Amino acid sequence: MDHETAVSKAKDIADRILAPAAGQNDKDGRFSSEAIAALGSSGLLAMTLPAEAGASALGPRTLAAVIAMLAEADASAAMVYLMHMCATATIAAARTGADVGQTLKDISTGKHLTTLAFSEAGSRSHFWAPVSRAKQSGANVRITAKKSFVTSAGHAQSYVVSALSADGKGPTDSTLYLVAASNPGLSVAGPWDGLGMRANASAPMSLEDCEVVPALRLTDDGAGFKAMLEVVLPLFNLGTSAVALGLCRAAVAGTATHVKSARFEHLGATLGESLPTLRAQLATMQIDTDGLAARIDDLVDHLERPRETTVLRVLESKAAAGDVAIAVTSAAMRVCGGAAFSKHMAIERLFRDAHAGAVMAPTGDVLREFIGKAVLGIPLF
Ligand SMILES: Cc1cc2nc3c(=O)[nH]c(=O)nc-3n(C[C@H](O)[C@H](O)[C@H](O)COP(=O)(O)OP(=O)(O)OC[C@H]3O[C@@H](n4cnc5c(N)ncnc54)[C@H](O)[C@@H]3O)c2cc1C
Repeated sequence: MDHETAVSKAKDIADRILAPAAGQNDKDGRFSSEAIAALGSSGLLAMTLPAEAGASALGPRTLAAVIAMLAEADASAAMVYLMHMCATATIAAARTGADVGQTLKDISTGKHLTTLAFSEAGSRSHFWAPVSRAKQSGANVRITAKKSFVTSAGHAQSYVVSALSADGKGPTDSTLYLVAASNPGLSVAGPWDGLGMRANASAPMSLEDCEVVPALRLTDDGAGFKAMLEVVLPLFNLGTSAVALGLCRAAVAGTATHVKSARFEHLGATLGESLPTLRAQLATMQIDTDGLAARIDDLVDHLERPRETTVLRVLESKAAAGDVAIAVTSAAMRVCGGAAFSKHMAIERLFRDAHAGAVMAPTGDVLREFIGKAVLGIPLF
């Protein structure tokens, strides 16, 4: 599969499977198993895996384009896909000696959905500092943890779980483990009823004395933090930015359709023909959306050819994307007036979904804190 094929497969799934069901799934808070089945059989769940795993080794450019395409139709499904791709990259980068061959094989045949279980009730959005600690139990470890939000909770076949290492000294001395959905002690700990992203099952999960064998330790002991920053963060920030872009594109398209079709009968003209203020707001939405697209292209370029400014771009991209998505979808709500407010159109779903990116860790505030420190040469942690 090449870049164009991947993007056209994403478009086909977005048009055929995601778009027709997104409104009802949002209303019902229903996880779309059909979306996952389609993404699996199309090869998109595995597209970034290397050729040795029978996949296409596609890079960040394709990942961003596919995610934006999916998010334009259904941001919940796009976020499920993004978390899967981040977890898949972590599994693929597992330390020598980890036994992840079968999992990668199942991912490459589209039969395995995975996700990240980092955030904890104790350390909240500071995912880099889990408060749970693995306890040595013979050769195995046992993990007890309260994971506060896990996208695809109860639907994934595996979870990439963080916990402090058994003998870690500092707050970031964590290790990552692969925990199968069937592992005794792992359970969904409550419902997911979010303001937005309602169809992505981001429920809390608990691990009660979950036993994990050494072969499913993904990182060296204490190297979880490094994997979070080097493997997960660039992809997650790129992907969250792409979700924001998809939401913005959908907001521009939905707003344009509305102001082209809704009419003032007494004036004999559409909203768009009648009101320069609506045209001006739509123009600002378009400018912001294209600006975000350019920022994502720039980040992709920095990830493809890493250089001194890459870390800053990784941080800046998600911080900016969260704000742009909120601004563009807020403008869409205003331009589309009572029709949007009364849920006659999809705009209000986009507006609600757009608020997730800025509060997902690293949050927009935390990213600003990191960027400010980086600019001043102050250590981030
Ligand atoms: C839809 C959705 C899906 C999610 N999916 C997953 C998932 O799959 N896996 C996972 O591990 N987690 C997931 N999360 C959790 C997410 O990554 C965050 O951990 C969570 O949203 C943080 O919420 P909180 O109430 O704990 O924030 P808090 O940490 O309580 O933050 C409260 C406020 O304080 C601000 N703040 C915090 N620290 C600082 C700081 N140092 N400087 C300045 N401001 C600060 C925050 O920006 C925020 O505005 C998901 C969250 C959502 C909303």
